[in-house]
Amino acid sequence: MKDFAVARRRMVAEQLAGAGLTDQRVLSAMEEVPRHRFVPRQLHHRAHQPSALPIGFGQTISKPFTVGLMTTLLELKGHEHVLEVGTGSGYQGAVLSRLAGTVLSVERVQPLAMRAKNTLAELGYDNITVLAHDGICGVADHAPFDSIIVTACAPQLPPHLVSQLKDGGYLLIPVDKGREQILYRYRRQKEEVVIEQSVSCRFVPLLGGVETGATPDQLEGPVASVPTDGEQFA
Ligand code: SAH
Repeated sequence: MKDFAVARRRMVAEQLAGAGLTDQRVLSAMEEVPRHRFVPRQLHHRAHQPSALPIGFGQTISKPFTVGLMTTLLELKGHEHVLEVGTGSGYQGAVLSRLAGTVLSVERVQPLAMRAKNTLAELGYDNITVLAHDGICGVADHAPFDSIIVTACAPQLPPHLVSQLKDGGYLLIPVDKGREQILYRYRRQKEEVVIEQSVSCRFVPLLGGVETGATPDQLEGPVASVPTDGEQFA
């Protein structure tokens, strides 16, 4: 079985280091995590290309540079308790798990959550937990978090996420600004949040209860009944 180590090294050199990302811990983590395991088997040969790829259920795994940039912006030191909203394939979560203490990742599409959970378990990444859950209100039971990363584009800053952040912690979130999406890094300062960084980006939408007025229970029905799409994962 091909492990794509050469492709990963090239991906890191050309798409991350070559594009200005310099955090050595992030580069090493992305050289280590087998990205191909997070895409459908028939796309393994494309896993290291500079593009997002479909993972089923209308969702995508982000392109390598986006994962590298978001991970860099979190400035993880190794001890942090991190919340990820939007597990998707589990790849971003896997990278975070190599750099933080513990990661809790929530995904509203239940079959995606199950698949990510299995992949992460097969790889032996045991400091990351995946929950099939709408993450727009965060996960109060596991709060507060040192950092929160949202990997889908929100219509506005979700207030619950801010309240579940530790003082001094980062919230990284793409927000829809009409003509473009902006990836913001907020830092919590006591009862306020300040914008520290912003960069133009492109993400799938963050869906969920707050905007639609539906409760998490109402969301579970349609989410749980999404048919599996027969994609092969390895
Ligand atoms: N981080 C992922 C890519 C994310 S794609 C990866 O590495 O593969 C965005 C994901 O966010 C999708 O899987 C989508 O189903 C999920 N999502 C959208 N709205 C959500 C919400 N309110 N709560 C939890 N997950 C959500």
